[in-house]
Amino acid sequence: MVEKEVKSGEHFDVIIVGGGITGAGLLKDICSNGKKVLMIDKHEFMSQTSSRSSKMLHGGIRYLESLDFNLVNEALQEKILWTKLTPKYAKRIPFILPIFKTSKYPFWFYQLGLELYDFLSEYKNGQHQIIRQDEILYYAPDILQLNLKGAGIYFDAVMNDKMIGIHVIKRALNNYQNAVALEKTSITSIKNENDQVRIKTAGENNLELTASDIVFATGPFTDQLLKDLNIPWEDKMLLSRGSHLWLKKDALNIKYPIVIQSYDDRVIFVIPHSDRILVGTTELPYSGDPAKAEITEEEINYLIDEVNFFFPGKKVDKTSIIDSYSGVRPLVKEEGKKHGKVSRTHKLFHPYQNTHVIIGGKYTTFRVMAQDTTKHIFSKNKWSYRENGFFDYL
Ligand SMILES: Cc1cc2nc3c(=O)[nH]c(=O)nc-3n(C[C@H](O)[C@H](O)[C@H](O)COP(=O)(O)OP(=O)(O)OC[C@H]3O[C@@H](n4cnc5c(N)ncnc54)[C@H](O)[C@@H]3O)c2cc1C
Repeated sequence: MVEKEVKSGEHFDVIIVGGGITGAGLLKDICSNGKKVLMIDKHEFMSQTSSRSSKMLHGGIRYLESLDFNLVNEALQEKILWTKLTPKYAKRIPFILPIFKTSKYPFWFYQLGLELYDFLSEYKNGQHQIIRQDEILYYAPDILQLNLKGAGIYFDAVMNDKMIGIHVIKRALNNYQNAVALEKTSITSIKNENDQVRIKTAGENNLELTASDIVFATGPFTDQLLKDLNIPWEDKMLLSRGSHLWLKKDALNIKYPIVIQSYDDRVIFVIPHSDRILVGTTELPYSGDPAKAEITEEEINYLIDEVNFFFPGKKVDKTSIIDSYSGVRPLVKEEGKKHGKVSRTHKLFHPYQNTHVIIGGKYTTFRVMAQDTTKHIFSKNKWSYRENGFFDYL
């Protein structure tokens, strides 16, 4: 990545706090529209939530349940775009959804859901299929046979979450003189002065900088950070930890991702990657520093039990585990809704007219999150804005 120096006292059009996927999208969108922009991150870029996801670009088949059709449509379009833009890091593959007599909904309901998924992709997703019980053995020979009725096959993508973000940041820094980014640089104070903000940073760079506008793209860190900076802000986040296991490649005999619906109404993905299998995730309330989120013994046992229940042909135990990781979902609170039921749509807040906070959303929809934020800032400042298209991200 191109290294560019930043001097204390420098002024930017926009400063972005947070170098995860949301910050990366913003950096690209703002610099390609001609504005001088700086992105800072307390840690390394793409090292927090954005590299601890379930590594899927997806429409989110389970959000159909909450009738979030706009989100599913938007996410499906974004998924399709990124499989074309970064085929090295995002691969479209079939996902297998086994349906049991004991599943939450009747067989026809899943068929209808998959029809709807195709429709919401504007039929660009690849047509889903319904297969019989004996056919599913080709895809997952060790799957539970008891009460198995068949399966749905639909298309989503498996991705390298860290590398897509790095790709976007590199595109911005390498192609635009007016884009700068600093890692291991934390915002420690902020002052609003008439029509600009003044910030101080610490870490590897102790700087005092000004900007016309500032955006917090700090994911699950947002509530705590804004309080620490004395920005007028009431907690808006419903933090939820999700943990994953990496299993040895031979722990299960599967060719494609399998989507299992657990007894407690959670959806667990079992996804073969090139040299290992990813199993996740859990969804538990979290408080504390998201950078320090870790899997618990209980979560390990839960994930192993689920895998053993749905794949009785193989015995998975702790010796099958290569590694594990946890991330914290930056969900936005909704009155009366629990973690698993909260919408994944993003929200933009403005504690001051030049201070913007983007939270919620999903990895898959980061480009849309960035565009919505940039459009707001540009329209407020009467700057002209051109939406980035396919070729801008290549
Ligand atoms: C378990 C789990 C599974 C998921 N699976 C998927 C999936 O399969 N597909 C999907 O689309 N989405 C998924 N998501 C959602 C997705 O990962 C997140 O929505 C997305 O990564 C959030 O990105 P972000 O840039 O907003 O946050 P982050 O990646 O957390 O970035 C915020 C950045 O802010 C920085 N920061 C914090 N404090 C400061 C400070 N004081 N100064 C400077 N910088 C600071 C942090 O270091 C961090 O890098 C999943 C999330 C989780 C937790």
